[in-house]
Amino acid sequence: MASNTTPLLEISGLKTYFGTGNPIRAVDGVDLTIGDGETVCVVGESGCGKSMLARSILRIVSRPGNVVGGVMNFRRSDGTMVDLASLDPTGEEIRSVRGNEIAMIFREPMTSLGPVQTIGSQIMDAIRLHRKVGKREARDRAVEILRRVGMPRPEERLNAYPFQLSGGMRQRAMIAPALSCNPRLLIADEPTTALDVTTQAVILDLIKELQAESGMAVLFITHDLGVVAEIADNVAVMYLGRVVERSDVDGIFHDPKHPYTRGLLRSIPRLGIHVGEDLDTIEGMVPNPLNRPGGCSFHPRCREAVAGLCDKFDPRRTDLPDGSQVRCLLHEQVPSVVHLAGGRK
Ligand code: SF4
Repeated sequence: MASNTTPLLEISGLKTYFGTGNPIRAVDGVDLTIGDGETVCVVGESGCGKSMLARSILRIVSRPGNVVGGVMNFRRSDGTMVDLASLDPTGEEIRSVRGNEIAMIFREPMTSLGPVQTIGSQIMDAIRLHRKVGKREARDRAVEILRRVGMPRPEERLNAYPFQLSGGMRQRAMIAPALSCNPRLLIADEPTTALDVTTQAVILDLIKELQAESGMAVLFITHDLGVVAEIADNVAVMYLGRVVERSDVDGIFHDPKHPYTRGLLRSIPRLGIHVGEDLDTIEGMVPNPLNRPGGCSFHPRCREAVAGLCDKFDPRRTDLPDGSQVRCLLHEQVPSVVHLAGGRK
């Protein structure tokens, strides 16, 4: 568990809202810890706030969204702590962290790489933004990075435009600027979603290899539990802007605590399923965040919901003896539920 390592990033109570009055609570009180060299996977269906969490850490939430609460303590390379949540999103300090100590790989390379700039100039720009190096040195470093990410003939690829590369190569090209300054934390937002399984495996191996070499931590956002099983140390399951379960990877797969986690696991295609047999999916859809259900926001879809309880009371985080955390009334201590029934709104 993350608690056994010195936190590189410790997030508590993070809130990112859009609008005022009745805002969209895209991230709604998230707690998360990442240690050096650790891989934390954030999972959940589309619309659960995973990408917004990543953007909040880097302070690149688009208007009218804003980080409105919480703390994100990040240990910088010189050992000082900085609360990313308190920084001006356009200020000097966050710009010295973003792309340098914390880098991000985005989901879709064609929309993240500049279309009218060569791969080489984009990597060199990233290097020269954070390092005082000349053009020649930046170029040499760009070639070295492209070689490290497994790009064939890296000297030639420097002059290529994104549209001239295949999907797998574009993804490698996008990883390159993110790694160009040796980040201590890499945030990867579904970096393999658009790739075929072979290229996906290559990219995952590459990230693991680079992580083993440099000791960087990885926050990996995905909805693919197969990927989670392959790379995660710890897992955070998100639903409607909240982390509903946090555990080590074994706990998630072998002893899931939250009904939502169990639903996600049940819906994985498995060997032995008979022809014509339906997959066991989670009923319904993630609700519109503007119309959040009262009580536990998962209750309309939860097979284990208790009428009169789950539709009335919002679960709190419960820390379990095995080190995992869960937000579900069924795991709250009995006295707490009694107390809830008596008083909590
Ligand atoms: Fe299901 Fe109730 Fe637990 Fe929510 S609190 S996850 S509705 S059992």
